[in-house]
Formats: sequence, C-alpha cells, structure tokens
Amino acid sequence: MNNRQKAFKLSNGRCFYCGETLNDDYEIDHIIPRSKGGSGGKNLVACCKDCNSFKTDLTIEQFREKIESMIENDFHGRIYKKYFGIRRKHFNFYFEKENLMGDGWGNG
Ligand SMILES: [Zn+2]
Repeated sequence: MNNRQKAFKLSNGRCFYCGETLNDDYEIDHIIPRSKGGSGGKNLVACCKDCNSFKTDLTIEQFREKIESMIENDFHGRIYKKYFGIRRKHFNFYFEKENLMGDGWGNG
C-alpha cells in the first residue's frame, strides 16, 4: 500500500477534515504543512478538493479559525452546509469526531 492508499484507509475513505465520502480523485494533505516543518508518513491525510484548497498551508488550528470565520459570512450557504450539520462555532473536524489521530497528536 502506498502512502496515498494508507491515508485513504486511515480516514475510512472519507475526507479527513469534513468527512465527505471521497472519490478516486481525492487529494493528499500535509496536516503540518511542509512550509512549517511537516513531512510524510502519518502527516499525510486524504481529503477532498475543497478542504485542501481551503486549508492551503495552514495548521489545523488556523484552518479551524478560517472555517469558523467563513461560516460567519456563509451561514446556511455552501460552506455552512459542508461543515455544519454540526454546530456554528467550535465544530470538530471529522478526524476529531472519529478520533483518527488517537492520542499521539498535539493541537499544533
Ligand atoms: Zn473535505
């Protein structure tokens, strides 16, 4: 299994961030961006195009803040629907709800 397939399996074939079911054209994201010192292995996760393009080179917490601010401007819009059948503020990513990272990860 290559890294791409491992990442897909890790998140049960769903986007690591929003939980959407992935198609074959899923993308691979670095949880900790390469520009901030992240490398491969467990740092690689499968995600949808939207999440990858929203996250860019942000950390998880920066990404969370970005989504929360997007939702403020998009209540009931596309972004809201994507991330929030959940809650308006302080939502959890799919990987948090499913505890995909176990206890081995910090918040950064
Ligand atoms: Zn996603």
